[in-house]
Amino acid sequence: MKDLSQHLEQKLELLRHKDLSSIDRLDLIDELAQACRELQHLNRSLAEANQQKSKLLEDLGAKTAELEQQTKEDGLTGLYNRRYLDLRLENEFDRAKRYRRNLTVIMADIDRFKNINDTSGQAIGDSLLKVVAKRLSGVLREGDVLARLSGDEFAILLPDLAHEVNAAAHQTMHVAEKIHFSLRDPLRLGEEQFVLTASIGIALFPVEESDTPLDILRRAQTALHRSKANGGGQTTLFEISIDEVAKQRFLIERDLRLAIPAGQLRLYLQPQVDPSGKIVGAEALVRWQHPERGLITPGMFIPIAEESDLIIELGHWVFGEVCKLIASEAVCGKPCRISVNISARQFRQPDFVAWVKNELIASGAEPMHLTLEVTEGVVIDNISSVIAKMNELADMGIHFSLDDFGTGYSSLAYLKRLPIHELKIDKTFVQDAPSDPDDAALVETILAVAKLMRLKVVAEGVETAEQAEFLNQRGQVIHQGYLFGKPQPAAEFISLLTSKSKP
Ligand code: C2E
Ligand code: CA
Ligand code: CA
Repeated sequence: MKDLSQHLEQKLELLRHKDLSSIDRLDLIDELAQACRELQHLNRSLAEANQQKSKLLEDLGAKTAELEQQTKEDGLTGLYNRRYLDLRLENEFDRAKRYRRNLTVIMADIDRFKNINDTSGQAIGDSLLKVVAKRLSGVLREGDVLARLSGDEFAILLPDLAHEVNAAAHQTMHVAEKIHFSLRDPLRLGEEQFVLTASIGIALFPVEESDTPLDILRRAQTALHRSKANGGGQTTLFEISIDEVAKQRFLIERDLRLAIPAGQLRLYLQPQVDPSGKIVGAEALVRWQHPERGLITPGMFIPIAEESDLIIELGHWVFGEVCKLIASEAVCGKPCRISVNISARQFRQPDFVAWVKNELIASGAEPMHLTLEVTEGVVIDNISSVIAKMNELADMGIHFSLDDFGTGYSSLAYLKRLPIHELKIDKTFVQDAPSDPDDAALVETILAVAKLMRLKVVAEGVETAEQAEFLNQRGQVIHQGYLFGKPQPAAEFISLLTSKSKP
């Protein structure tokens, strides 16, 4: 095309010569007309090529969409497939752990479906599955995930359940009932009529910190098998038998009541360091030296203690120990604060403020070495009374730290009304921040909020140099995590603190 237009230019140049003979001029004009026709032709081909190109692109888009569909859709029923369910499960699982939510997996399997397939043929079987899929879809709410796992096995993930376990279990049982109900009407296909029932297995999760998505599917399947074994048409909820759980709780509660007066609790401290590595504080974390079970971490007994006044007794013990520590030579006079976790139930005691004051006076501990860690659960109800209590303590020089920040629903407006000095970023965000853009953004937002409101930030669960680096690049953050020290017996922490602060 470029050659052709150059050629045209040359010819036009020649035409402009005055001393050209008429014959030559006519020849030239002929040539020019010919060149113009060629140019037009080329132009047309180009337009056609362009049209073809956009058609190809369109086809490609459709093909890609089709492929995407194929990877998450079950070809027969149009429901999600196993692959997609696995992905969603993994995703929702992390969220459930992080936000302490309940989720369930319901597995449903058509009773004696193989018989139908064998006697009526696969085509009828397939048609039945499509109808079942439709009926199941009708039972769900928006956000629920329905998948066909294989053959006549369906799974439903309910990601949005009540916080409270019993309420969540109840909601799930209700969905299971609706599934049974939806199948009750006879199904007519051509000449034949079918009455289907399903066996259902349910697993609630997470149950244990160490649970994986696979554990949940396995539990739902175990429960499903039990429904089948019982004759079908039933629902079984997988549970580590309620008796067993209740028994364990009862034993822990009974032993813990004795453990406090028997001196089996241990005060552990985990150092908090500034970006230069200097110890600026510590968090008090309780442990239980059980005579038979060995050293027990708080995850095993704090939640049980929190269900009764045991947590108050336990909190008193921890607070008393921390006061002794603060009044000791090791801490007193140093720029160091000890953080104590305060349970909601404890904070809500009408005499909480008076009690704190008394303890401080009795031990001779200075309030300026004390930080109280509260969660949003503590501050969320009865705000005016909470503000009054916090202000009274803050006026004495006690600091407040908002624990597990990022996992709850605090609004800025809310935060502004409270005398909070510090935000603690929950360890799940800290740990994933370098690799997960969502968590990175969340951490950055928390840092921005803290800066705006002039709050200190403590990052919990810093385990790697990469995580520490990520934080240091973004703000002035205090680190708490295995990278700088695990929770250690109080005596060990004191010697660490003393040795570090020697000239
Ligand atoms: P928390 O207040 O969020 O405490 C932080 C938890 O993170 C501690 O678990 C600590 O050992 C752990 N941790 C610290 N650094 C790292 C790290 O780098 N990696 C990992 N994976 N974990 C880290 P711990 O000691 O098991 O305590 C669990 C929870 O028990 C605490 O969570 C707190 O809610 C409660 N708790 C502990 N002591 C007390 C107490 O004296 N009173 C009350 N009311 N609750 C307490
Ligand atoms: Ca804490
Ligand atoms: Ca925390």
